[in-house]
Amino acid sequence: MKLGQYSFGIGDRFAHQGIAQLNAIIKAKELDVDVIPVWNKSYREHEIIGSKPADTRQEADNAVRARGWRNAYFVDADHIGMKNVDFFLKSSDFFTIDVADFIEKPVDQKKIDLFVRQHEDYIGELNIPGIDESLTISKERIEEIARKYLLAIEEAGKIYAYLFTKKGQDSFVVEVSMDETNKSQTPVELLFILAGLSKKEIPLSTIAPKFSGHFNKGIDYVGDINQFAKEFEQDVAVIQFAITEFSLPPDLKLSIHSGSDKFSIYKPIRQALNKFNAGVHIKTAGTTWLEEMIGLAEAGGGGLALAKEIYRQAFTRFDELSKPYATVIDINKNQLPVPEVVDKWDEEAFTSTLRHNPINPRYNSHFRQLLHVAYKIAAEMGERYLKLLAEYEKIISKNVTENIFERHIKPIFISDK
Ligand SMILES: [Zn+2]
Repeated sequence: MKLGQYSFGIGDRFAHQGIAQLNAIIKAKELDVDVIPVWNKSYREHEIIGSKPADTRQEADNAVRARGWRNAYFVDADHIGMKNVDFFLKSSDFFTIDVADFIEKPVDQKKIDLFVRQHEDYIGELNIPGIDESLTISKERIEEIARKYLLAIEEAGKIYAYLFTKKGQDSFVVEVSMDETNKSQTPVELLFILAGLSKKEIPLSTIAPKFSGHFNKGIDYVGDINQFAKEFEQDVAVIQFAITEFSLPPDLKLSIHSGSDKFSIYKPIRQALNKFNAGVHIKTAGTTWLEEMIGLAEAGGGGLALAKEIYRQAFTRFDELSKPYATVIDINKNQLPVPEVVDKWDEEAFTSTLRHNPINPRYNSHFRQLLHVAYKIAAEMGERYLKLLAEYEKIISKNVTENIFERHIKPIFISDK
């Protein structure tokens, strides 16, 4: 199955904004930029909300029907492993096979030796088109990479084989992800990971390495932007080299698990894509949920009151809510306004503190991150929350569409002008 050159992963906690999300993709299409929508939701999200992959499937199908979308679209089983793949089998046609837990796990020395022998030809100075300096590859380096990644590669092969027997050939898109780990992968590591994966005969559409820097949820990139730009370009070059070298699918591309809103690296990403005429998949976190909060607050009245109530609860349940996201958030409690202060805020104060507009002096990334992980509270409110979503649908969907199109699709795929 073909994913297309540009694809965009849209998370939606409560599965109510499918049409508003698709409208952003349609806006790009009207400018002759084809972006394939992928509705992604992880096991963690389903568990916290109590939703099922079938709900995401229904949301996507309904949105596509309602808007007459004729291009491809997908439903992504995000970050799955052998332990939860079955949960997603029926409703998903995109599987993000997460093998990060298998990195640096012991592997048979014989397999390592074999891997090294199979790749002996690369020892020495390797020149990859598009990378200025040559890469120095030693036998020890290949061995070290094999030791670190072979088990993860094997696990990816196992899960793919399982999916193949359950779903049949060519009926789903495959991504392999290694991003939820502590250390980033270098372009040389990526090269040999791809070499290993090619032996598993996985029809790989995307690969999600961990890039250097911090990709916290819902806020901008934290790290050295020039270093990222260089690394990203080299990764793109490595992928293009690997496609011919290891006979990988010709449309293989990088997937960036952005965690949403990595505004400061969008420009280097676009420049690299243009330079190499390459594709990319951008996966975002469920920040559509924050647009729901912004819409509710902007509406005033009962909407603003509910937004404040959710914040009050989030503030008191800080530890519980942030725990599942500990490695991907960075909240300084001292920077959080107390609920008594927030209660006095008007629409403008609440929305400008929450909306990710870095040049607005009121914007507060700590406030934003706490609300980002607070969707559990809205899930607990159930009908009460969903009723308000329906009541203020117009103002919410405007925020959802504008956010995806103006802040993400435009700077990544079109231009930041
Ligand atoms: Zn990820």
